[in-house]
Amino acid sequence: MKWEKPKVYFNFLCACLLLWICALLTGCGASPKKYTIMNYEAFDTVSEITAYSTEDQTEHLNALNALLEEWDSLFDIYEEKEIPNLKTVNDCAGKKPVKVDERILSVLRFGLTMEHLTEGRVNMALGSVLSLWHDCRMEAQSGKARLPEQKELLAAAGHTDSSNIMIDEKASTVYLADEKMSLDVGAIAKGCAADALLEKAKELGMDSVMINLGGNLLTLGNKKNTKAGTDWIAGIQDPENMESYLYKIPLNNMALVTSGDYQRFYEVDGKKYSHIIDPETLYPPELYKSVTVYAESSGLADALSTALFIADLEDGKRILSEAGDGCEAVWILQDGTVEYSGKE
Ligand code: AMP
Ligand code: MG
Repeated sequence: MKWEKPKVYFNFLCACLLLWICALLTGCGASPKKYTIMNYEAFDTVSEITAYSTEDQTEHLNALNALLEEWDSLFDIYEEKEIPNLKTVNDCAGKKPVKVDERILSVLRFGLTMEHLTEGRVNMALGSVLSLWHDCRMEAQSGKARLPEQKELLAAAGHTDSSNIMIDEKASTVYLADEKMSLDVGAIAKGCAADALLEKAKELGMDSVMINLGGNLLTLGNKKNTKAGTDWIAGIQDPENMESYLYKIPLNNMALVTSGDYQRFYEVDGKKYSHIIDPETLYPPELYKSVTVYAESSGLADALSTALFIADLEDGKRILSEAGDGCEAVWILQDGTVEYSGKE
């Protein structure tokens, strides 16, 4: 009897030691760590990919960053790259079809669907008009702020018909049947790239990721900063103060994309001209300071935020409801009033 008690203690101690060794070996005792990678070049913006895991995510993040750079190269309209890209397609307008990567074809197909959904407000074939505004924005940086000539705008607008985008699925080629036409996928490419990165993250077995491509946010899972995890939180920026947020919302397995007049613009005689152009007026719309869209797909949220920035509220709400369940939007009007999609 005398020896029984110490024997129980001894067994208990052995069990504890065994459990501790098991925990060490399986790593189940470790708490998740944060891993981040930054990119300052792709899509001409600042991107950040964040992951939480108990395992080292450095290699996975490097793979995602490499994919981001590939997407940037494919959709570049200013520089040729080692593979045919959108600039190659534009340079060959009216001359010959270009064999392209499947990702270019899929973004073009998506862009055509978005043009239909947004009733023509988002049009990838608007390149000739957008480049006139782009040139003026560039000139303004060297102190010569001017607006594009009306007759130049009207002439360019004659070359924006997307039915001239000829996609040959079998040959994997794209041909622009109007030699003065050019493509610009700036309204959707970052969104589509984020969706592709998220798919890759899933393939790699990641389960807690936030992709931020210049403010285009997309998340996978929740934020596994603890074993139980918490919500990823996304902010809607105050257009008057870039440092602060007007709203913060949980964002798990969802996308949040904003189009705003404060993002890229230039000024002529004290008036702001944003980088988003209404295909009807050929001028930047002035209805809102920003429009933010919440949706499952980042590509869809990206296309919708640009379209809703152009559309009046009634049209915008109709387009949003046609985009499907689960899409929500927040409009910040010029006087600071806030409108929500759910509000009657
Ligand atoms: P976002 O910041 O997503 O709203 O997209 C703005 C970018 O899309 C611009 O910098 C242009 O490259 C391009 N863009 C501007 N207006 C349009 C439009 N109406 N349709 C298609 N692309 C546009
Ligand atoms: Mg967009």
